[in-house]
Amino acid sequence: MADKRDYYEVLGLQKNATEDEIKKAYRKMAKQYHPDLHPGDAQAEAKFKECNEAYEVLSDPDKKSRYDRFGHAGVDPNYGAGGGFGGGFGGGGFGGMDFDLGDIFSSFFGGGFGGGQRANPNAPQRGSDVQATLSVSFEEAAKGCRKTVDVERIEVCDSCSGSGAAPGTTAQTCSECNGRGQINVTQRTMLGNMTTVKNCPKCGGKGVFISTPCSRCRGAGRYRRRTKVEVEVPAGISDRQALNIRGEGNKGVNGGPAGDLRVGIDVRPHPVFEREGYNVWLDVTVSFAQAALGAELTVPTLDGNVKYSIPAGTQPGDVFKLKDRGIPNLNGRGRGDQLVRVMVEVPKKLNERQKELLRAYAEACGETPSAGESKGGFFGKKKK
Ligand SMILES: [Zn+2]
Ligand SMILES: [Zn+2]
Repeated sequence: MADKRDYYEVLGLQKNATEDEIKKAYRKMAKQYHPDLHPGDAQAEAKFKECNEAYEVLSDPDKKSRYDRFGHAGVDPNYGAGGGFGGGFGGGGFGGMDFDLGDIFSSFFGGGFGGGQRANPNAPQRGSDVQATLSVSFEEAAKGCRKTVDVERIEVCDSCSGSGAAPGTTAQTCSECNGRGQINVTQRTMLGNMTTVKNCPKCGGKGVFISTPCSRCRGAGRYRRRTKVEVEVPAGISDRQALNIRGEGNKGVNGGPAGDLRVGIDVRPHPVFEREGYNVWLDVTVSFAQAALGAELTVPTLDGNVKYSIPAGTQPGDVFKLKDRGIPNLNGRGRGDQLVRVMVEVPKKLNERQKELLRAYAEACGETPSAGESKGGFFGKKKK
């Protein structure tokens, strides 16, 4: 696992920050790095996730105190110093991509502050999204491919099937709430007796106790592990685009759906082709004689070599088009074109016969070429 930054540092806070300061710092950072404001910016997205993760811990008094005492080991399910039920890896709606700014704020203003207790710890929670990157070649991006991505994500513990109880044991029903997870509290008010429902303080609202936690997941029922996910890369994808693979992110809690896997695509450059939109550019070099007289060229394309005849009198910089030899359109039918730019090479070395012929050619053009080698000179100093 990559080294994690200190959560206070992530939010730009001092260690002794108050609840209010943590909230303010998070709001500021979340606004600054929100993916909607930086579409396709993987760095902003990573920052945003990092802030969410930091906020999820620091806004929860219980997690915060564990983090303050034990650091990341205190809140990471892998080490699980505090054990327990792994209430919120995913952080509910946080961390996902399918929500807008309003959602985030309503979700944490609605449920999070004050008591530091989730409204209902048994409610299904969607798992958070997971990021990965995938490097593909120019051709793979153009034609599409199937690839395997290494992903580190939270999965249901295979040892206890997610129950958190050691194999052969079961979680016991909480005696305080008889497994309901909630208790009724009756208060006398001016309007008469008011009964409110609270999460059971004994079991934290889970309704059950695990006396012998599963050793693999330390009672969390889920743990983070490396796994491989097959990814279908569509033809036409371009560098820095991301694929969203639904349901391949962190597993949800209490039967909630899994988050998504977001795969950032890194397209390696090609030695000769250059992409522009769905078109592919290629420079070909021809000799002066070929340009002047016309020639049949063998031109590499994404589909292999094709023949193309340049006409007599082709000029340096002329561009010809190989229709539909470009990159397939990602979201539909059709392909871009291949655009071939002609470069004309001036020979650097000539043998005697070539010189002779060229002088004769110059004479035929009415020019008076210099007899000797002209080294340097005004044009000789220019770039090769
Ligand atoms: Zn387990
Ligand atoms: Zn209880």
